[in-house]
Amino acid sequence: MSEPTIEGLLAEDRRFPPPPGFKQDALVVDTDLYAEADNDYEGFWARSAAALDWSKEWDTILDWDLPFAKWFVGGELNVSQNCLDRHVDAGHGAQVAYHWEGEPGDTRTITYAELLDEVSRLANALKELGVRKGDRVAIYLGMVPELPMAMLACARVGAAHSVVFGGFSKDSLRDRINDAECTVLVTGDGAWRRGNVVPLKATADEALAETPSIGKVLVVRRTDNEVTMRDGRDVWYHDLVPQQSTECAPEAMDSEDLLFILYTSGTTGKPKGIMHTTGGYLTQVAFTHKHVFDLHPDTDVYWCAADCGWVTGHSYIVYGPLANRSTSVMYEGTPDFPDKERFWSIVERYAVTILYTAPTAIRTFMKWGTEFPQGHDLSSLRLLGTVGEPINPEAWIWYWKHIGGERCPVVDTWWQTETGAIMISPLPGATTLKPGSATFPMPGIGADIVDETGAPVSIPGGGYLVLTRPWPAMLRGIWGDPQRYRDTYWSEYAGKYFAGDGAKRDEDGYFWLLGRVDDIMLVSGHNISTTEVESALVGHPAVAEAAVVGKSDPTSGQAIGAFVILRAGHEPSDALALELRDHVAQAIGPIAKPKTILFTEELPKTRSGKIMRRLLRNVAEDEALGDTTTLADPSVVEGIKQRYLSSSAGEEV
Ligand code: ATP
Ligand code: MG
Repeated sequence: MSEPTIEGLLAEDRRFPPPPGFKQDALVVDTDLYAEADNDYEGFWARSAAALDWSKEWDTILDWDLPFAKWFVGGELNVSQNCLDRHVDAGHGAQVAYHWEGEPGDTRTITYAELLDEVSRLANALKELGVRKGDRVAIYLGMVPELPMAMLACARVGAAHSVVFGGFSKDSLRDRINDAECTVLVTGDGAWRRGNVVPLKATADEALAETPSIGKVLVVRRTDNEVTMRDGRDVWYHDLVPQQSTECAPEAMDSEDLLFILYTSGTTGKPKGIMHTTGGYLTQVAFTHKHVFDLHPDTDVYWCAADCGWVTGHSYIVYGPLANRSTSVMYEGTPDFPDKERFWSIVERYAVTILYTAPTAIRTFMKWGTEFPQGHDLSSLRLLGTVGEPINPEAWIWYWKHIGGERCPVVDTWWQTETGAIMISPLPGATTLKPGSATFPMPGIGADIVDETGAPVSIPGGGYLVLTRPWPAMLRGIWGDPQRYRDTYWSEYAGKYFAGDGAKRDEDGYFWLLGRVDDIMLVSGHNISTTEVESALVGHPAVAEAAVVGKSDPTSGQAIGAFVILRAGHEPSDALALELRDHVAQAIGPIAKPKTILFTEELPKTRSGKIMRRLLRNVAEDEALGDTTTLADPSVVEGIKQRYLSSSAGEEV
């Protein structure tokens, strides 16, 4: 049977109600939660918060002084106590918290009791290094268990952490440390990546030459590469932590005390230091993790394949899953090491039931072909999720079919570093899915789509995505820059949070995310979304991934330039370029036809795997490249630029 095309599927208006086998045991099977939350959203969130352990009850649910929110005012709790002690005290100490797998194949199984002990030791070690409540601690590690442990240890002593992704350069690390004036750095000798050692300590040393606030550096041994330890500053983890006591009373934190600072991915520009606090954040990440992933803590094996360096890792590898007493898989390396079966081998060996990953990974798996997942037993899976970018309907169908075996709901979750937790997503036992749509705002969340004047657009219709009321996990600001906080999020539309993303609602009220507002193209007076054109391209059987940008054009204002990665077994040709162009014309309309198509092996992406269209726009416009510091591999865009300038593919097809 040939692959169904996305047009075919959408023409049938294909809908995916919750599969009966899934629905049977689902936590939520109807829409009551939405009604309950709409009725009284503050009361709804207060009931969610009450599921946590508070050492002191709050007085006021919400204090909203636009744009500054305080949730559960006067309440006190400790996040690490809620994630660890609470479960151990309830008799679940022997339950596995993390099945950790290193890239070289070594493994560690860490129970809740062991995690509590190690976090307590590490918390005592941090205190010995001088960390006090209210301090900021930078963490620069690969995906080793010590990373979540360090986050939890900070939470235990009341210090805020600032996790810097282990793939970042010394400048990125330095700037983040200095911005938050961190006093201690937790790093490692190195990290494994595709069989190679990423020299974390050497990079950190360069950064540390220009970070006056750092007094002590705690170094985890992982890769055994040679490192320089500076006397009086650098301390090995294994010399300091094991000797510490496992008794460390969790600090009682105010609900509004800072839990962490995290910098955004930097897809659109200079990263912002987003601040998240304690009570509201934990309430919403626990609620969303439980309901979006339909978590059954006694039976599920949950795997979020993100990195702790991104907000997805904070909320859905560490805080949400642990608050809900999940058993998680944590994997150190890349999906193609030692071969392209690694992910599916992990799913099979740990009998993973819930898998949460990014569209960029799914499109890569599509490009590689189905033989890799096919060789593995994936029948343990019961739910799939995605986050990070709009998921092209074709990629959604591929995931549903080839990974989920047509029995697992796919939850497409829209949210941001700023929102802290999932905001728009299906509830998998209740929501009828449409491939490519994140469906509806979560219970308790107010979202709308407005035009440039801020007026809500009718249904169906498209425009700018806004959030219409405060939510517990919302950012409390940008570190050190309250004005930028107001300007970026609250000044575009009075009283509403502006997300920076375009969206539309279809006739059934489903939300479809259309990409970043900065990326929207204006062709002959029509707004055309990058996502829609890219999804049409990915809908062609030869295409695995596509990025489109608008470039100035004398006749149409902007013309669409496409950059296309082919699936395994397909070769670039002029004929194929013409075919793709017609394919888009048929799927969307002649106006959306790309004027130029460049076949490429790679696209410029952030280190979190998102396509950076602004750089492709620079290429298409023959401009100097903008800020590339958050790019995973700066040589990719240089390569594309050279080929674009020299090849006829950059010209009209
Ligand atoms: P910066 O704000 O520095 O440009 P960033 O926006 O990429 O970086 P993140 O907070 O990691 O940083 O990403 C949030 C953005 O990712 C959203 O605003 C949206 O553009 C995109 N996104 C996340 N999930 C989805 C989704 N399910 N569907 C569509 N877009 C998504
Ligand atoms: Mg953003």
